[in-house]
Amino acid sequence: VFIVFEGGEGAGKSTQIGLLAQRLRDDGREVVVTREPGATEVGARIRKMVLETHTTTSGPVGATALAPRAEALLYAADRAHHVSTVVRPALRRGDIVVSDRYVDSSLAYQGAGRTLPVDEVSWLSAWATGGLKPDLVVLLDVDPKVGLARVDRRGEADRLERESLDFHERVRQGFLDLAAAEPARYLVLDGTRDPAQLAAEIAARVARLLPP
Ligand code: C5P
Repeated sequence: VFIVFEGGEGAGKSTQIGLLAQRLRDDGREVVVTREPGATEVGARIRKMVLETHTTTSGPVGATALAPRAEALLYAADRAHHVSTVVRPALRRGDIVVSDRYVDSSLAYQGAGRTLPVDEVSWLSAWATGGLKPDLVVLLDVDPKVGLARVDRRGEADRLERESLDFHERVRQGFLDLAAAEPARYLVLDGTRDPAQLAAEIAARVARLLPP
């Protein structure tokens, strides 16, 4: 079973992933918690490169900024390696895989955010993953003004300040559009709600996917 958490900055993904993994392990399940970008050694190098040289849609692409298509390819490379060395092997063992971000992040950030055609980012991702789709996507939806303020407190403001609020609003809408197009595979929750209540709802939804 493959579960993905998606959402903008400061949506509370890490907290909810931690709570879900703990709950599943307490039930005696094998759980692999992973993330994109950067779960593997190669991925960590890609993550560093991509986050250090992040593209801006607002300003000119300077010497150290990435062109949007290059950025999309780096995320796709990270994903291809991640799927083939971490996710698929774990699924073959019968483990539950919980990933912090997956294909939808590319559709939302590189597609809706950077305004690359979403269908092109989609086929790039399909190629990178060999078509592997999650069984469930938990989308933690938060107004970017609220999410970014949460991140501010964690001292990650620098990187994120390079993007306009407009960018983050396009990303948020990108995620919501994906969920609306395929409601059966999504659980959309308001990320500002009480974390314990969110955790209970997520656990109930996940339980329906698990073998007894
Ligand atoms: O969620 P996490 O903090 O690990 O994500 C790192 C950053 O990478 C995010 O803030 C997001 O801006 C960016 N990202 C992206 N495109 C992706 C995945 C992540 O722009 N496909």
